[in-house]
Amino acid sequence: MAIVSPTIEARRGQMFPVLSAHDMTRLERFGTRQSYPMGTPILAAGETGPGLVFLRTGRIGVSQGGGVSSRETIVEHGPGEFLGELAQLSDRPALVDAEAMEDVDALVLPGKALRDVLVQEAELGERLMRALILRRVGLLETGTAGPVIIGPAGHADVLRLDNFLSRNGYPHRVLDSLTDGCAATLVDRFKVAPEQLPIVLCLGGQLLRNPGEGELARCIGMVRAIDPDKVYDTAIVGAGPAGLACAVYAASEGLSTLVLDCRSFGGQAGASSRIENYLGFPTGITGMALMARAYNQAQKFGAEIAIPDEAVKLGPDRDGEARFHLHLGNGETARARTVVLASGARYRRLPVAGLCDYEGSCVHYWASPIETRLCAGQEVALCGAGNSAGQAVVFLATQAKKVWMIVRGASLEASMSRYLVDRIRALPNVAVLLRTEICGLDGEEGTLKAVRLKNRDTGEEERCEIGHVFSFIGADPNTDWLADAGVKLDGHGFVITGADGRHPLETCRDGVFAVGDVRASSVKRVAAAVGEGSTVVSAIHAWLAKQGDSVAEAAQ
Ligand SMILES: Cc1cc2nc3c(=O)[nH]c(=O)nc-3n(C[C@H](O)[C@H](O)[C@H](O)COP(=O)(O)OP(=O)(O)OC[C@H]3O[C@@H](n4cnc5c(N)ncnc54)[C@H](O)[C@@H]3O)c2cc1C
Repeated sequence: MAIVSPTIEARRGQMFPVLSAHDMTRLERFGTRQSYPMGTPILAAGETGPGLVFLRTGRIGVSQGGGVSSRETIVEHGPGEFLGELAQLSDRPALVDAEAMEDVDALVLPGKALRDVLVQEAELGERLMRALILRRVGLLETGTAGPVIIGPAGHADVLRLDNFLSRNGYPHRVLDSLTDGCAATLVDRFKVAPEQLPIVLCLGGQLLRNPGEGELARCIGMVRAIDPDKVYDTAIVGAGPAGLACAVYAASEGLSTLVLDCRSFGGQAGASSRIENYLGFPTGITGMALMARAYNQAQKFGAEIAIPDEAVKLGPDRDGEARFHLHLGNGETARARTVVLASGARYRRLPVAGLCDYEGSCVHYWASPIETRLCAGQEVALCGAGNSAGQAVVFLATQAKKVWMIVRGASLEASMSRYLVDRIRALPNVAVLLRTEICGLDGEEGTLKAVRLKNRDTGEEERCEIGHVFSFIGADPNTDWLADAGVKLDGHGFVITGADGRHPLETCRDGVFAVGDVRASSVKRVAAAVGEGSTVVSAIHAWLAKQGDSVAEAAQ
């Protein structure tokens, strides 16, 4: 059965381009010739393939599924077409299967060669990159490729894993173990106890029982072990706008670049339902779409991106070639000549008793399509009055029956952009409660039944039947991990830079820079973070050159 995706239907030509003989000749110098007799498996889902396979003669069939669902054909490639998608850009395991349907004569380009084409053959590279991205979008849309999460719908750990893979643009499926017959059979067959749910079936056939994000990412090959012997020119902590901008500029200017993020690419910006004030996007863009572009761009230039990998300590200077050791949460160490702190900020938690009983299932810190699906047609509460809160209200109001906006202050105007205030006022299903706070949560077994609200002037309390709360009450810097790093922080925990005549983005520790929201007195906006992430690269070059590092000098 052929599968359907709006993107495949609308953009088939760009997704599966047929290259000319001249294009194929241009590719010759990057790849190696390879023959595949009819019937040879070329890609196996869950395993790392040979790279992008450009067909000179013959046909290749691409299919997916076969585990918990029937096998489906995605496409057949003929001469001038190529096999592969985004996974091959960074030599990650394939998400689909592919087999030679006839004898195939092909040109094979592994990840490194492909990245060389993208950079050296700009026009051809653009067509290839667009096809790779569209193919990934197609896989995300069809929702039948990738690992399968099986557990009760709405379960906090199902949402956690669903969110993790969605935020990282990784195709996957979610099956409800209570209503899907096939899912229930699997739970039975593998004798999965209720407390071990959700399970995840990985493409390589492994079964994980309620895994952590790191375990899942390693199992599906999303993240690999850091090479302990490699010394990077720069290691960037955080893959938000600041970290990704730094990665794009550093990698494109020849610096060997490692980016670590403990959660997903995109940071806070990735959680934004619509960014309307970023230059060049007059109709606005979702944070996820903007950040996915940046993530792919950084990989195109060869930046290595490790997600989820958490930096837990910045170790001492000087150890042979490496000046810095970044210790990671999983016990690994990354070595680098310079370090860029781009770890941004994290949401604040509401000071309400029993909050943790509902976090992940009924109390949310993002308003993505996953959360909005959960509360479609219901009444929800949202706390906060900043721009991020305003965007979330506008987004939620499209799905929820009613949005109660809980604001501690006396007006929205004091903290929110005018365009958002106007938009919120025009929404008939949004009620703004000023001078109000949440003082209690009522529910049982992780299910929220009601929210208690208190008027801050009169002290009067009211109980409202609300099953989901969204919290957008600001953020604190992610700097706990820098406690013994010898980096100076201000009274609120933000990293101080530019002291004593240093470069404006350099911390008090030589060779350690800070950019974006984590930096004291930075402007907390996407454009500012991107600007700082891009600017810091010239300071890295200068610093490396001062140390006499040949890599840096070559890149000048
Ligand atoms: C919902 C929402 C909507 C917004 N909308 C807009 C908007 O419309 N326009 C606008 O200009 N701004 C907006 N902002 C603000 C903007 O998103 C931030 O200013 C920007 O994301 C800051 O970028 P950053 O890279 O400095 O930090 P962040 O985006 O916070 O990224 C930091 C990254 O570092 C990672 N990290 C943290 N600690 C570690 C560690 N120890 N190890 C590894 N990784 C770590 C985090 O997981 C995160 O991915 C919005 C913010 C939110 C929350």
